[in-house]
This record gives sequence, C-alpha cells and structure tokens, in this order.
Amino acid sequence: QLRLGSALALVTGAGSGIGRAVSVRLAREGAAVAACDLDQAAARETVGLLGGPGSEKGAPGGNHTAFQADVSETTSARRLLEQVQACFSRPPSVVVSCAGITRDEFLLRMSEDDWDKVIAVNLKGIFLVTQAAAQALVSSGCHGSIINISSIIAKVGNIGQTNYAASKAGVVGLTQSAARELGRYGIRCNSVLPGFITTPMTQKIPQKVKDKVNGIIPMGHFGNPEDVANVVAFLASEDSGYITGASVEVSGGLFM
Ligand code: NAD
Repeated sequence: QLRLGSALALVTGAGSGIGRAVSVRLAREGAAVAACDLDQAAARETVGLLGGPGSEKGAPGGNHTAFQADVSETTSARRLLEQVQACFSRPPSVVVSCAGITRDEFLLRMSEDDWDKVIAVNLKGIFLVTQAAAQALVSSGCHGSIINISSIIAKVGNIGQTNYAASKAGVVGLTQSAARELGRYGIRCNSVLPGFITTPMTQKIPQKVKDKVNGIIPMGHFGNPEDVANVVAFLASEDSGYITGASVEVSGGLFM
C-alpha cells in the first residue's frame, strides 16, 4: 500500500545527500515530487532517479519535476512555491526542507559573513519555505505535513559550528511555533535531527575523527541518508497523523 498515494511533495536540497534520499523514498511511497535545489543539474539528476506512480507519463498529479531556487532569497523562495503550484495545479501537501550548508570556524575566528550565510540558508531559508508553503495550504484549505531538517547539533553544539548549531536550534523553535499556529488548519510541522550521516556534507571529516565519533555512537557507525528518509516518510504520512511539534532524532543514539 502506497502511503503517499495522492500527495505532492516539495523537497529542497533535493540534489544531494539526505534531500535526494528523501525524494527517492517519497516517490516510492507514491508522491509526485517537486525536487528543488540551488544546483539545477543536481535536482534534475535526482528526478532521473525517481520511480513510483509519479514517474509515469500522465500520472495523476503530474510527473516528478526539478526546480531551481535559492531558499535563502525571499523572491526565489516565494517564486518556488508559485512555480510548484502552477506546475501541479495545487500546493504541495508535503514539504521537506533539506537545503543546508556548513561554514565551520572557531568562534574566536568566525567571520560575520560565515555567520550570516549559514543563518540565511539554514534558518531564514526554512522560514521562507515554511511560510510560503503554509500560506499556500491555508489559502486553498488543504491539510499538510511540513518537515524541517535540523540536526542533533541543535541540542548539544559542536566545536567550530556556532553558526550551524544556532541555525539548527532555530529550526526547532521555528517548527514548534509553526506547529502551534498551524494545527488548527490541519497542518503538522515536525523537525528531524539527524546525527552523523554519510553524505557529501560529512565527506570532508577526516577518517581519524570518524573513527572517534563511531566509538561514541551506540549503533557504532554513521547513518545513511535512507535512515533519515525513512523517518521523513513516516512524518509525511498519516501514520504520524497525531504528531506535530516533535523533534525526532535519527542519530544512532548519539546523545540521550
Ligand atoms: P548535502 O551537502 O549533501 O546537500 C545539501 C543540498 O542543499 C545540496 O544539494 C545543495 O546544493 C543544497 N543547497 C545548499 N544551499 C542551498 C540554497 N540556498 N537553496 C537551495 N538548495 C541549497 O548535505 P546533506 O548532508 O544531505 O544535508 C541535508 C540537510 O541535513 C542539511 O540541512 C544538513 O544541515 C542536515 N544534516 C546533515 C547531517 C549529516 O551528517 N550529513 C547531519 C545533521 C543534519
């Protein structure tokens, strides 16, 4: 049974890592996927990987489609929602914000630009997409599930990541507040807090450090993007119909 049979899912950061795995998983559950990334070629590549009913020509709800947008830019983020609605003739009922960046530096040396850029993409980007998606859903009377990718770093901080940790803690607060405001419209908002996941973002971590981290993860290893995508699929579906404002950790038990 397809859990997302009639859903249209918008995924940002869909061109890589977690966003790509989420796109693949939601398509397998039956959703038509609007795959958005800053990198248009990468978004198109993801669409090429998608199966499910949405990949069939003339499928109800349309075929999977790639979109280019910079979620940190107000006009770009708002245009994205307009374009998705125009393309599929309805707002997305599932919205997964995976777009994110790191610009690591010790606090004592962090530039204002490194701070601003990470906050702009990771926090303001999620505000803009969540707001535009919620406005589209409320004005058309549709229910929905909004899932924002935070990080376990939101809870515990990390050396060299004051900007990233602040952005990810902000995502949790934003999502909880949105959940309180939007519940009455049938819109659920949850955040997912991945631990260490094997993606291009974590590729540059030296093997020595990875070995050390693996030593403190109860499961003993990094997670896969699919481990996160499985939880996102649950939060997107009616199986989680009474869950809102939650922060779900997918970290192999890294912090308890
Ligand atoms: P990734 O670098 O593989 O993918 C991120 C994608 O976001 C890229 O395709 C990139 O082009 C896109 N992107 C960047 N800036 C954008 C913008 N302004 N507008 C639109 N798209 C933009 O990273 P990932 O590991 O897949 O991370 C996905 C999300 O998960 C991020 O929010 C990240 O912070 C979070 N996360 C990752 C891990 C991990 O261990 N990999 C852990 C916790 C949280």
